[in-house]
Amino acid sequence: MTKTIDSFAALKLPAPLLSSLIEVGYETPSPIQAACIPLFLAGRDLLGEAQTGTGKTAAFALPLLARLDLAKKVPQALVLTPTRELAIQVAEAFQKYAHNMPGFHVLPVYGGQSMVIQLRALSRGAHIIVGTPGRIMDHLERKSLNLDGLQTLVLDEADEMLRMGFIDDVEWILEHTPAARQTALFSATMPDPIRRIAQRYLRDPQEVKIRSATTTVAAIKQRYWQVRGADKLEALTRMLEVEEDFEAALIFVRTKTATIDLAEKLEARGYEAAALNGDMTQGLREQVVERLKSGSLDIVVATDVAARGLDVPRISHVINYDVPYDTEAYVHRIGRTGRAGRVGSAILFVAPREMRMLKAIERATRQPIEPINLPTRGEVAERRIAQFRQQILDVLAEENLDFFYEVVRRMESEENLATRQIATALAFLAQRERPLRPDGVEMPASMMREEPVKAAPPVARAIPSATAVLPVPTFQAAERKPREEAPVVRERKERPAPRDFGNAPLVRYRIEVGKNQGAMPKEIVGAIANEGAIDGKLIGQINLFDDYSTVELPELPSELIDILRRTRVKQLPLKIRPAAPGEGDKPSFSKSTPRKSYDKSERRPRADDAARPARSDRPASADFSKRPPYRDDKKPAFGKPTGGKPAFGKPAFSKPAGKPRPR
Ligand code: AMP
Repeated sequence: MTKTIDSFAALKLPAPLLSSLIEVGYETPSPIQAACIPLFLAGRDLLGEAQTGTGKTAAFALPLLARLDLAKKVPQALVLTPTRELAIQVAEAFQKYAHNMPGFHVLPVYGGQSMVIQLRALSRGAHIIVGTPGRIMDHLERKSLNLDGLQTLVLDEADEMLRMGFIDDVEWILEHTPAARQTALFSATMPDPIRRIAQRYLRDPQEVKIRSATTTVAAIKQRYWQVRGADKLEALTRMLEVEEDFEAALIFVRTKTATIDLAEKLEARGYEAAALNGDMTQGLREQVVERLKSGSLDIVVATDVAARGLDVPRISHVINYDVPYDTEAYVHRIGRTGRAGRVGSAILFVAPREMRMLKAIERATRQPIEPINLPTRGEVAERRIAQFRQQILDVLAEENLDFFYEVVRRMESEENLATRQIATALAFLAQRERPLRPDGVEMPASMMREEPVKAAPPVARAIPSATAVLPVPTFQAAERKPREEAPVVRERKERPAPRDFGNAPLVRYRIEVGKNQGAMPKEIVGAIANEGAIDGKLIGQINLFDDYSTVELPELPSELIDILRRTRVKQLPLKIRPAAPGEGDKPSFSKSTPRKSYDKSERRPRADDAARPARSDRPASADFSKRPPYRDDKKPAFGKPTGGKPAFGKPAFSKPAGKPRPR
């Protein structure tokens, strides 16, 4: 590689091209451009070893345009490409760079397109022709394409043309174009037949090879994702959601415009993101770096130039949103993470066409780069649920919740609701801005199990200090066991369909486990529902006593009584039997009477009902079917839409992986 050239102006490109480059947002020439453009302008033949993604198209397109005589509408340059897709892409690149060159015409010519259209277009004339070898040969033979005025011939992806069997056609074309032409041959690899062509048809070519940096990057976990479909942004946000050990990310894109564009899109999705590019003043750039260091920013979207030498130990992830131009740039980029003895992660987004760059990087870094899959919506959901749960545990451990405890307790008794029903509605409300279930996710895999029998963690201040005054249900003490004790999650068994009890009346049954045996209502419900194939909604009030409990159930047939007699809770058989009159009259815990969801029609009428808004106007509902659709472009939970305040309690969403945070 030649010395670093920092600006296109230094390459002596004419003003209309420089303006176009500003428009497309190119900040600085890529290494191959810096090396090739001066040689091209000087009329030298060129042998460039470069793959897609290095910026090689602009490396020949810009100098070709710079030397073009627009007044002469005859083909002055011909670019041969192996495929029609590449021909179209290259023609589009010419069009883009020539945006400020009125009257310029580039014509893509490839097999498969109607001959009539091509002949008409050729007769109208073009300054540059980009085409596949077979079709160009056809036109030369028909004399519908005249290359007498040709000054430059570019062979793009020569090794691909060889591989696809076009090399004879290429040679034929080389022999049928003016001998005085300038020739440039680009190839990702240089197999012998290509070298031979170069020796035979190129005059004293200057070789340009982008040097590979061989560096060890041991502290950095390197992975790649093969871009499928166009939605890199969706992929990026999903990855940021599920990445472990995320602290801050540096995202590399190619253009200044892309830094702003992507940073804005990430901001719109609730991330603390900012752009860093060469157009920003030194002061502004420093501000961005300072904010990243201090943690007020989590994501910086940068160009290679702007991120040069950035040293922020918080950067846990480098995302190569656009592939780097060369392996050297890659090594520089990923070196921004894994600093100060930490482990860093690098993720490369790579299009199928850019796989060669991936291989080159693997060779240069002497490390394999592992493929990763796009996280599924289910995984995103699981992650959100895990974070949500953690947030609840943090609040329970850290906050004084006396007031809220009392609010819930009163609601329980006044509305005849179970704690779980209230919690469910609260969970629903809390996730509205950032749904726990992205669209299409029915139930994340981890929840496709039986109800986890998981003890709650120790709770520092969740139980009101004034327990003497507030009637704290006795089951609480039993339920709050240290977390280590029993994180048992049973695998889902094939569950029989729930039994149909028709209109069977509710009957109170007695079971032989109670508080002294450590029984908990949820275990009793779980055991009876599972073993008896009874829909949990049909299980009514449960009252716990010291050595026994009572449960309201639809009247049970005798064979079911037999099953439930042997069913165990806390290792003890339930020995279920109908309760004697008066047994179970003094409850210490109520699971509310069965109800599908909170519904006004089922609720006890209250004195102030008339003054209350109808249910549809009331915010809290446990009916998940009415949840708002998942919108990834929404502001994050607890973010701006709720006035910058968490929807519920503090801390707001405790800082998760790349997670939107409240501002
Ligand atoms: P290529 O290797 O020619 O296929 O180019 C790969 C991509 O890099 C294209 O999307 C170009 O628009 C982009 N590109 C080329 N040169 C530059 C540059 N100097 N700055 C930013 N992006 C560039």
